[in-house]
Amino acid sequence: MSNRVINFYAGPASLPLPALERAQKEFTNFENTGMGVMEISHRSKEYDAVHNEAIALTKELLHVPDNFKVLFLQGGGNLQFAMLPMNILHSGRKADYIVTGNWAKKALAEGKTVAGDAARKIASTEDEDFKRLPTEDEIKVNDDAAYVHFCSNNTIFGTQWKDFPKTGNIPLVADMSSDMMWRPFDLKPFGLVYAGAQKNLGPSGLVVAIIRDDFLEMCADNLPKMLKYKLHAEKNSLFNTPPCLSIYLLRNVLAYNKSIGGLEAIEKNNREKGAILYGVIDKNPDFYKGYVKVKEDRSFMNVTFNLPSPELDALFVEEAAKNNMVGLKGYRTLGGIRVSMYNAVTVDQISTLASFMEEFVNARG
Ligand code: PMP
Repeated sequence: MSNRVINFYAGPASLPLPALERAQKEFTNFENTGMGVMEISHRSKEYDAVHNEAIALTKELLHVPDNFKVLFLQGGGNLQFAMLPMNILHSGRKADYIVTGNWAKKALAEGKTVAGDAARKIASTEDEDFKRLPTEDEIKVNDDAAYVHFCSNNTIFGTQWKDFPKTGNIPLVADMSSDMMWRPFDLKPFGLVYAGAQKNLGPSGLVVAIIRDDFLEMCADNLPKMLKYKLHAEKNSLFNTPPCLSIYLLRNVLAYNKSIGGLEAIEKNNREKGAILYGVIDKNPDFYKGYVKVKEDRSFMNVTFNLPSPELDALFVEEAAKNNMVGLKGYRTLGGIRVSMYNAVTVDQISTLASFMEEFVNARG
């Protein structure tokens, strides 16, 4: 497909071509029904099979233990910021929040809107402009916390947790919107993880949430139906009309991920991509100035750096576009360059970018 570009957008973002081509083939006639998958009843056996396959593939790829449920929800990551405290912070419960970027901060703000002072900030690196993650001894978890919320990958600043905060028996909750499935991980310490699909999993319009049974039991009953995790779990995420097309595309992406060796193979690719790109940055630290100050905190999904001037940033984006590479402009309030290299971005594509960066620094550095 020669008309495809190398896509570094932060989300919605690049998806694996085979998953899209599969959709293209089936778009107007899904499994000989004579209809597209988005034209079929969500109560039909054909859709049901897709829905359940997407759930099964999520469980298989992430090795989800039996005491967790996979949920498909709507309202984006932003609704999860509110839905979580609405469900859990009743009956005098409190929760702790770690603030490592804009999205983690928004999660805390929604926690406060729902539960006031019961949503507590226990650590933050905001006074260092989120250039690193808090260290273990900077995080003091309260014994009475019903959960500790953190954002596993900070899409804007480019930090990512490799080892998750240690909270003993207190359940972790993570916003994994920008790195869910970048690698396998141990779900056991988590009460809930959630991710807007539009970065690493599929198109927008869908949130994948994985919730532990005992955490589900803690959820409030007196909520509007659409906001109840319990109801979505009881109804297998078919309480109302789900985003069928997004779930179908998630299925295609996950089936492709399985075909290339699962998350173990994907993690290997992601680490290789990181080594290539950070290799160029570290080789030219006065030209490609990494935003993140602690190397171990650097993200394998969103790589952030600044060139020596905003003019050079702009020129870099412009010349990259001439070379078929798009989506490199940094977040609107941060400036600089951001390379989002989710699972669908290949090692070859990162090598192409790295060569471009070498040429650029040779010409302008
Ligand atoms: N969390 C993270 C880590 C994100 O990167 C984003 C979106 N960029 C969100 C939450 C918000 O997601 P949504 O737009 O789906 O509400």
